[in-house]
Amino acid sequence: MNLQNKLNHSIFRIVSNTANNANSEVYVIGGYVRDLILERNSKDIDFVVIGNGIELAESVVKQIHEVHKVSVFKNFGTAMIHYKDMQIEFVGARKESYHFDSRKPVVESGSLNDDQNRRDFTINAMAISLNQDTYGELSDPFQGLQDIENKLIRTPLDPEVTFSDDPLRMMRAIRFAAQLNFTIVPDTLKAITKNCERIRIISAERISEELNKIIMTEKPSNGFKLLDKTGLLALIFPQLVALKGIESVEGKAHKDNFYHTLEVLDRISEKTNNVWLRWAALLHDIAKPATKKFNAETGWTFHGHETKGARMVGQVFRQLKLPLNEKLRYVQKLVSLHLRPIALAENEVTDSALRRLLFEAGEDIEDLMTLCEADITSKDQQKVKRYLENFKNVREKLKETEEKDNLRNWQPPISGDEIMKAFNLKPCKEVGIIKSAIREAILEGNLLNDHLAAYEFMLDEGKKMGLTPW
Ligand code: ATP
Ligand code: MG
Repeated sequence: MNLQNKLNHSIFRIVSNTANNANSEVYVIGGYVRDLILERNSKDIDFVVIGNGIELAESVVKQIHEVHKVSVFKNFGTAMIHYKDMQIEFVGARKESYHFDSRKPVVESGSLNDDQNRRDFTINAMAISLNQDTYGELSDPFQGLQDIENKLIRTPLDPEVTFSDDPLRMMRAIRFAAQLNFTIVPDTLKAITKNCERIRIISAERISEELNKIIMTEKPSNGFKLLDKTGLLALIFPQLVALKGIESVEGKAHKDNFYHTLEVLDRISEKTNNVWLRWAALLHDIAKPATKKFNAETGWTFHGHETKGARMVGQVFRQLKLPLNEKLRYVQKLVSLHLRPIALAENEVTDSALRRLLFEAGEDIEDLMTLCEADITSKDQQKVKRYLENFKNVREKLKETEEKDNLRNWQPPISGDEIMKAFNLKPCKEVGIIKSAIREAILEGNLLNDHLAAYEFMLDEGKKMGLTPW
């Protein structure tokens, strides 16, 4: 098969001519070829050279005015350039062998065929020739093209060896199955299950990179079900597996929180591409197992799972080496507030409850509502409809309150500094008490949201506590 007319990017002719002048062989290989056939967009192109990749990259750059910089990674024998929105990598063809305790292979130079043998899946092992007499010819030693047609993920060589050599490939297999909506062939899937323990030699960062890609697919539950089925999930993310199962006492059963969580994740993925909002969906009920109780009258309860859940989000982020910055705080906030809009939708909506929620959620109020709407997963369609109607109502009321009180980025009118000055205090707990009394009074609607009124209120509160104005 010749794919010449699909090689539209100008880099291909440049690389081809440069290699031809240097009398060396060069191929496009791996993910770019797969995506070209699948008609997916790619952001990276890999060239494999029979010989020295760094030298070829340096000669190629001399032909391109726009590019001056080559990033060379001597240890890996690779060189990278950025050109016309593409990250382009050059590497010499290589042969690899592995030690049991590491996923870093011993590398020696090799042929195109050696290089294709070290690739993880048949669909990732195809190469296109850029050599003059065979320009555009597909090299497909493992029938990757057929596997693309049949939507199959399969390792080129013995899957046991492939996964044991580099266990990250197990995560990649599931990620590709999830992204492309492909099936992992039985042999390959069995080898993942058998080798799942090997995932322990992979760093948390690499695992999370794949997890994030799974979370960003159209229907992330597919990927998570595969992770679970192969035993990987219990090793990399045991808190999620702990959500599994239904317990029943005196004929009262609770729902399976694992499948519920996956459903919420799928539902939210229809509404948002914000990976952290998707994480909030994945983690919203994470503390249910830890807070579960049975009560003869009310049945199963999970009191405080939102607060404990927010703390567990921190553990999960540390364990998976996810960022410990405002992304973490955002997910924690959504988890800790995720029951509040439901409470509003169930009960009569008071102004003070709306104001409180707006104040606490701040600019993340929309995302919180999106999470809560995704959280309605009953089989009873009437019930779902009723809840969603109620949420619409809550959203409208939130909007009205927001327009009236502008609480989203609200700061109480009196600061801690001002309280300290008024009573000549150093930082102490009284300052905090007065500050929260002011905030509470305003949110409750007992005090006007203005400086003068709040100042009077502050003086009264201080006097009640035995403080004297300065
Ligand atoms: P994407 O770019 O969407 O993440 P990709 O398949 O292009 O997918 P890259 O990490 O860009 O993934 O790798 C490029 C190619 O390198 C792959 O297509 C595959 O041939 C090879 N490759 C990458 N990682 C591995 C691995 N762990 N084991 C074997 N081959 C790999
Ligand atoms: Mg790639």
